Amino acid sequence: MSAVLAPLSYAPIPQNLPARTVAVAAGDGIGPEITAAVLGVLAEADPALSFQQVTVGLKAYESGAASGFGPEALDAVTEHGVILKGPVMTPSGGGYKSVNVSFRKLLGLYANVRPSIAYHPFVPSMHPAMDVVVIRENEEDTYAGIEHRQTGEVVQCLKLITRPGCERICRYAFEYARAHGRRKVTCMTKSNIMKLTDGLFQQVFEETARDYPEIAAEHMIIDIGTARMASRPGGFDVVVTPNLYGDILSDVAAEVSGSIGLAGSANIGRDCAMFEAVHGSAPDIAGRDIANPSGLLLAAVMMLHHLGRHAPATMIHNAWLRTLEDGIHTSDIFRPGISKRRVGTQAFAAAVSERLGLQPHHLPAARAAEAMPALHVDKVMAPARQATKELVGLDVFLHWDEAGRDPAVLGRRLETVRAGGLQFELITNRGVKVYPGGCPQTLRSDHWRCRFSGEAAGVSARDVPALLLQLAAAGLDVVKTENLYTFDGEPGFSRAQGA
Ligand code: NAD
Repeated sequence: MSAVLAPLSYAPIPQNLPARTVAVAAGDGIGPEITAAVLGVLAEADPALSFQQVTVGLKAYESGAASGFGPEALDAVTEHGVILKGPVMTPSGGGYKSVNVSFRKLLGLYANVRPSIAYHPFVPSMHPAMDVVVIRENEEDTYAGIEHRQTGEVVQCLKLITRPGCERICRYAFEYARAHGRRKVTCMTKSNIMKLTDGLFQQVFEETARDYPEIAAEHMIIDIGTARMASRPGGFDVVVTPNLYGDILSDVAAEVSGSIGLAGSANIGRDCAMFEAVHGSAPDIAGRDIANPSGLLLAAVMMLHHLGRHAPATMIHNAWLRTLEDGIHTSDIFRPGISKRRVGTQAFAAAVSERLGLQPHHLPAARAAEAMPALHVDKVMAPARQATKELVGLDVFLHWDEAGRDPAVLGRRLETVRAGGLQFELITNRGVKVYPGGCPQTLRSDHWRCRFSGEAAGVSARDVPALLLQLAAAGLDVVKTENLYTFDGEPGFSRAQGA
């Protein structure tokens, strides 16, 4: 006797949504083919959506746009508020700025949102129940791109962290958790070492958490936090970090979920947002119709939620889950025994389109409630309180390579330098105190931080150039200075050993 299959019941495609245009950039490598596949699904699920195609990536670069996107791309994003962007190739060599970094900075896309979800057993995962969202600050930190070579041996990168930058990313993380019914936000920093920069991020996180009493808040040091993400991601729900840590952590999270090739991401700003896959342009498989379009498709789902078009977003998401469950897989996730049909890029997208209106059987179905919060968090930020700022010293960085780099020789020369209220205090090399005192084993570079300090009321702004003139007259090569201030009496600088 043959089994009688229940007829498939399809929910209808939503027809009553307002017309809306979004900017689309196909990008490089596999970008054009996965973008074509994704636009096909979008056209089926959301017929009122239209697309303005713009050029970003290599083609734009080769036609003279150093940023990798032309003015028409920027205009289109500004006009439509969103862009769905395919991966772009970053050529090596100078002159080319990353398209993503340029977009993020120009458009103020401060929040990078990356869900890392396991789709076990359809996509094998070390952590079958993993469901974590990493929210990374997107504009500040070492990514400000302010780097200098100061001596023969020493280069530096400035790590800039601002209170408004911390406020909006931390608030975004809690708003995201609230909008998605998530229960905990974990902040990860290295505030035990970088007490001022990462310390500020942690402090703002803790201040922000007080406004969300229903959501648990915890802070972890980034190193153990990353290790835990790899070994026990079940302990995390939403994670918020400064830029660099988030860059690394979000890849670790996506990798251990088993689905880095399937992950989409959102870059959210106050006025604009950019949606893209996590993976790159995969030049090794470009043009062969074998790339998996899932990362860009899930990014498009996030975009639809961001635009408030929850019905087509949920419909595409569920059709995609069902396609995975049905074993219709592109080569990258094809596993004998689990997969049933190996398909190319366009056939995979067609399989998703055929399933629009169906629900997954095994994997948790997407719900319309899983919207991207369209936040205007700037509005809820308190104005910064002005602290009383007093000049109490000067750090002078010297390029000095004499006398066998003996710090005592340099120290004795500096003992005689004095300007107004500023007087010599100590020397460090790579953050380690080498004079007075010091340890002969300490490696000494040609870059010396020499601290001059004084009493709060006793140092004047004029003492700074006066001191620098004296150092120049003494034949010393000043490569950089930092003023030392107290704010309401609290030092706004690290102690001699970075502590
Ligand atoms: P990649 O993600 O492009 O490729 C890594 C590996 O994964 C390759 O073997 C590739 O074939 C495979 N792969 C990637 N996406 C796939 C997909 N959708 N389906 C099937 N297999 C897929 O990383 P890469 O090789 O390090 O970088 C290639 C280029 O992409 C570089 O120029 C890099 O700068 C750029 N990139 C761009 C973005 C972006 O635009 N957001 C992100 C990462 C890398």
